[in-house]
Amino acid sequence: MSDLLTCQEYKAVAASLTPASMSFIDGVFRPASDGATIAVTNPATGEVIAQIAACTKDDVDFAVQKARSAFEEGCWSRIHPSERKKVLLKLCDLIEKNALELAVLESIDSGKPIRDCVEIDIPEVIHTLSWHAELIDKVYDQTAPVGTDAIAMVVREPVGVVGAVLPWNFPILMLAWKISPALAAGCSMVVKPAAQTSLTAIRVAELAFEAGVPAGVLNVVTGSGSVVGEAIGSHMDVDMVAFTGSTATGRRFLHYSADSNIKEVVLELGGKNPCIVLDDAENLDQVAEQVVAAAFWNMGENCSAGSRLIVQAGIKDQLLERVVAHASGWKTGDPLDPQNHLGALIDKGHFSKVCSYLEMGKEDGHDLILGGESVDGTYVLPTIFDNVKNSDRLAKEEIFGPVLSVITVNSYSEAIAVANDTEYGLAASVFTANAKKALRAAQSVRAGTVTVNCFGEGDVSTPFGGYKQSGFGGRDKSVHAHDQYTQLKTIWIDLSDDAVDG
Ligand code: NAP
Ligand code: MG
Repeated sequence: MSDLLTCQEYKAVAASLTPASMSFIDGVFRPASDGATIAVTNPATGEVIAQIAACTKDDVDFAVQKARSAFEEGCWSRIHPSERKKVLLKLCDLIEKNALELAVLESIDSGKPIRDCVEIDIPEVIHTLSWHAELIDKVYDQTAPVGTDAIAMVVREPVGVVGAVLPWNFPILMLAWKISPALAAGCSMVVKPAAQTSLTAIRVAELAFEAGVPAGVLNVVTGSGSVVGEAIGSHMDVDMVAFTGSTATGRRFLHYSADSNIKEVVLELGGKNPCIVLDDAENLDQVAEQVVAAAFWNMGENCSAGSRLIVQAGIKDQLLERVVAHASGWKTGDPLDPQNHLGALIDKGHFSKVCSYLEMGKEDGHDLILGGESVDGTYVLPTIFDNVKNSDRLAKEEIFGPVLSVITVNSYSEAIAVANDTEYGLAASVFTANAKKALRAAQSVRAGTVTVNCFGEGDVSTPFGGYKQSGFGGRDKSVHAHDQYTQLKTIWIDLSDDAVDG
């Protein structure tokens, strides 16, 4: 907490901000082609903090055209990788210099707790950008084992114009997960942030331009998914789309691609992630701390949230007592107050959706052992329902709020079966002192990330993405993220005797 300011100080910063709210295309701020705007509210106060441009299909066409020209011209795509590295590291410096402004902007735009924005999101953005920047002048291409009559080079080339369509739950961090490997690889981009949370993306695009990313390389086109998102997904001159959001919208991008130019599509989607606690788990206090972080971090508005606690009967009571105690220490309230661990949910619509699950849990007769209430506007207290069956809607559907369902099992095998009984497969955690059970569980749970004796998403060096309906086509983070922003080209050079003698 030492680096954190006071709530009053954060409020003063918030009051001093006049966020840029137009789209940023070809190095210039632009209104929508028809001048339309969308009001952006601070979810915590209901106050309108900006009017973003409600861009049109024409705006997307214009941005894609600029992105294409920049790509073809080679001002970014064909410069030495170490030059791109230098510019991206400069961008990291600028983000660092503006970290306070960005953290406060993120908090008032999304309702996220300022402590997370300051301590997690902004540092992770810098880390992600610098990691991919540092990587890009250290990756080698290959030659294939084709004998002495030819040389076959297998080279990676930037995929071209990348569309990125982003969610509202980690606005600036998801932006960083997409732009870092794509820009490092040499792609040009057209980014659509979620309409609720576009402000930090616009600011980062402006800072990137200041750092030296050429005009047209990183464009942010604001507006609604049904207009701007669809126009990007369906565009004949976008080579690849990277999307994070719901499975339902992700599915649309596969249709857009199939019905347009067969662009590459990479989807990071929802989850209903299991936290398995076996009865030999050690240090239940620490386990409880992790279970609480898994369920309630970012108000549960997290695709990798551990929203199903699958616990073996023998230790259930001891564990739940500690989980309730830890969760009770997680305060909910004003996102700009650094004491608070939970801020406001993203908007009234989503708040109503989460509240409907609270009602469902009560009506279905599950044992409410914590929370179950909303306060002032868009806050929902950490909520735990016990004695939930895995077939209940509470345990099946992605709630995307601070709601934990507890499912009791009697054996290791039952725990694994229940963990896998879901259409999702993004992340899972297992807590046990038995190394064989831990490794066997890690092998058996069908999820893109399995953490043992902790909750987490690994770090920037590890790939992140989903099995089953949690993902498609690739991974964010790590060296593997570069695969989706590059294409393989084979260059075959004939060295046969005919070629040499002739
Ligand atoms: P969403 O619809 O998947 O939104 C994600 C992005 O897709 C936004 O930028 C959105 O634009 C855009 N979009 C929406 N409809 C589109 C369309 N027809 N064509 C192209 N793009 C489109 O998510 P949401 O509606 O904000 O949230 C709904 C639920 O999705 C949540 O309750 C949660 O369960 C889940 N969700 C998951 C994640 C995740 O990280 N896995 C993130 C966010 C939400 P606009 O919203 O600006 O119109
Ligand atoms: Mg907002």
